[in-house]
Amino acid sequence: MNGHAIVVGGGIGGLAAALALRRIGWRATVLERAPAPGEIGAGMSQSPNAMRALDEFGVGEQARAKGAPSYSAGNLRLPDGRYLQRARRGDVTPLLAFHRADLHGLLLEAVPAGWVHPGTEVTGLRQDDRGVTVTWDGGEAGADLVIGADGIRSAVRRMVWPDASAPRFLGRTAWLGVADTSGWGASAEDVTTPPDGLSGSVTMGSGGYFLIHPISRGRTYWAFVTTADRPDLRYAREKAEVAGRLAAWHQPIPGLIAATPDEAVIHIDIRDLDPLPTYVRGRVALLGDAAHAMSPDRGQGAGQSIEDAVVLAAALHAEAGIDAALARYDTERRPRTQATARGARADGRRTTSAAAHRALAAMIRLMPAPVWRRGIAADGNATWRWRPPRLPEPTTHA
Ligand SMILES: Cc1cc2nc3c(=O)[nH]c(=O)nc-3n(C[C@H](O)[C@H](O)[C@H](O)COP(=O)(O)OP(=O)(O)OC[C@H]3O[C@@H](n4cnc5c(N)ncnc54)[C@H](O)[C@@H]3O)c2cc1C
Repeated sequence: MNGHAIVVGGGIGGLAAALALRRIGWRATVLERAPAPGEIGAGMSQSPNAMRALDEFGVGEQARAKGAPSYSAGNLRLPDGRYLQRARRGDVTPLLAFHRADLHGLLLEAVPAGWVHPGTEVTGLRQDDRGVTVTWDGGEAGADLVIGADGIRSAVRRMVWPDASAPRFLGRTAWLGVADTSGWGASAEDVTTPPDGLSGSVTMGSGGYFLIHPISRGRTYWAFVTTADRPDLRYAREKAEVAGRLAAWHQPIPGLIAATPDEAVIHIDIRDLDPLPTYVRGRVALLGDAAHAMSPDRGQGAGQSIEDAVVLAAALHAEAGIDAALARYDTERRPRTQATARGARADGRRTTSAAAHRALAAMIRLMPAPVWRRGIAADGNATWRWRPPRLPEPTTHA
């Protein structure tokens, strides 16, 4: 079955959908609100499940070349610098860390020329027996299928799922940044026990944690996730605010913040979506954050959107009709993504109270190192063990 899909949103999920559709001989039109294709933001990690999904539509190797191995799950520390668990030289990590723009950029490059239309904000959608049509200021287009990949505040979800609740503020907020650490002496590829402490790590404080991922080209991504009484609280000097909160934490934390340009410090609140009863209505399917935005505590949001893309394309390839394929997509994706979101929300909650933090730190410290290390190996947890359905080899597309 061949067809044409309109993908609303050209983030990681939307571009992954376009690439997966191309593999099955479909055509995709990606409508993106931002005036120029591109992705702002800081960093992210991808786990083996997402990397295998990228392989299915042919960009896994390029992604591995851009990613830096991250030992963040292996090096767990306390704010005074003590290690609860520590990675050792020779450890192999299944996590790859990226600048978000690098991962987005390589997907964008792989999408056929002319498929992505920046500066196009979808504002309307209607469907009938013949198909589905979206509208934007000054235009409209129809297709066999519309994929809402327009993020946590999805317009497609609002239009087609008016009964869905708004994203939920989780009582937490995050500062993110990317520092130039090229002169610091340790490369991103040699980070397990570097002399200056520049290593992938997670430092667990009471009420929050600080994440470090060295990424490619001498840069280091950091994120501080902590509690917040209310959403949308912003500071005149965001970098000074986060630096002040972490001034007494171990190096390289204060150093990394200091090495980040003021304007490159991003401050966002943590929200997720309550589970939707279905990801499909008629010829409209939701994908990525539009369907299942989750808190970042398992590092899975974008990875799950890449998985969605492969499963949706595989279902369209395998089933005789679009309706059956969409039903299959919904049945396969909802349980996994909603369980992941539930788990991420629960993990996040555990980092917010002093008592829960103490219990978690004690449990990690007491865990024998081999047991901890098995847990962070490539097949260490059920989320990472996921394998994608197979997509056909590339077809030439007009
Ligand atoms: C602090 C933090 C850390 C994270 N770390 C990780 C991590 O390590 N690993 C991981 O996998 N995930 C991580 N995530 C989650 C990840 O960022 C998201 O899950 C992912 O970006 C979702 O991709 P998406 O394409 O579904 O949505 P988005 O990235 O939000 O893209 C949606 C796109 O749709 C466009 N759009 C919106 N409305 C319209 C419209 N009406 N018309 C046209 N276009 C529209 C937007 O401009 C945007 O380009 C993290 C998230 C946070 C907050």
